Amino acid sequence: LGMELPELITEQLAVQALPGRPQFGHKGTFGHALVIGGSKPFVGAPLYSAHAAYNTGAGLVTLAIPEEIYPVIAGQNQLALIRTLPGAEGHFNGEGVEADLFEKVGAVAVGPGLGRFDAGEAFIEEIMEHLDDQPIIIDADGLYHVKDRLEMLSRYRGAVILTPHPGEMATLTGRTVADIEADRITVAEDFARKYQVHLVLKGHRTIIATPEGTWVNPHGNDALAKGGSGDVLTGMIASFLAQGAGAAEAMQAAVYVHAASGERAAQKYSHYGVTPGNIIETGKEMLKEME
Ligand code: AMP
Ligand code: MG
Repeated sequence: LGMELPELITEQLAVQALPGRPQFGHKGTFGHALVIGGSKPFVGAPLYSAHAAYNTGAGLVTLAIPEEIYPVIAGQNQLALIRTLPGAEGHFNGEGVEADLFEKVGAVAVGPGLGRFDAGEAFIEEIMEHLDDQPIIIDADGLYHVKDRLEMLSRYRGAVILTPHPGEMATLTGRTVADIEADRITVAEDFARKYQVHLVLKGHRTIIATPEGTWVNPHGNDALAKGGSGDVLTGMIASFLAQGAGAAEAMQAAVYVHAASGERAAQKYSHYGVTPGNIIETGKEMLKEME
């Protein structure tokens, strides 16, 4: 105890972690993922999350965005249902979080492209108050908005999954990036235990730390180091959660598919040329081999 080595994330582990696909399933069976995010500077991020969720098997995806960016999002989106919430200055203004937004929703991801705005903390708190016990992923500036409310995450009835890159982890912990990078596993494990959350500490050698265990991902490469990449990962986690995977399993499957897609896509498009869209496409090739 206390000396247990983290397990490696392998294809075999990911295959076991993937949610099943019942032959007679309908779109309700495969779950409804809700992605809440977007702002005027960051229109691509929520789209990447939503499209990643759709392309990895979610039955339905709803994208909740500030109304000011609706035309751009609608023009780029053919997959997700779109809900608009009131905005100001290109962000959400904190209003419009109502119960019907969460009806039949099996998993929520909040943060991709969200940006920072005054009502951000209250906005996320309100989202969590409307949920019963559905798993919630908090990513990107969603993490910024919860950094002073970590006890709220500990109190939540369902699984809370945080997906920081090292810079966001620095914001969450008040430590430096250098400190975090020097001791990634311990930092992640301590945080997950202290706040009773599920953590994906991203970057080269992503760590998954949950209150129950720790996993290290040996896959992935620099081809993933590009804006939008993390948003794709968030969408994949939301998708597997919506399809019924447990929190740890959804994280394992998504981290593997995402990272292995980075490797596969780099063979095809070069380490320079891989885009987040390529990760979504190549993810389907990985899933083909895994199903
Ligand atoms: P974000 O910073 O939110 O866009 O997330 C970046 C994603 O790409 C995360 O899943 C990282 O783990 C992954 N990533 C970025 N750089 C590397 C790298 N050098 N090696 C492996 N994975 C990486
Ligand atoms: Mg990110």
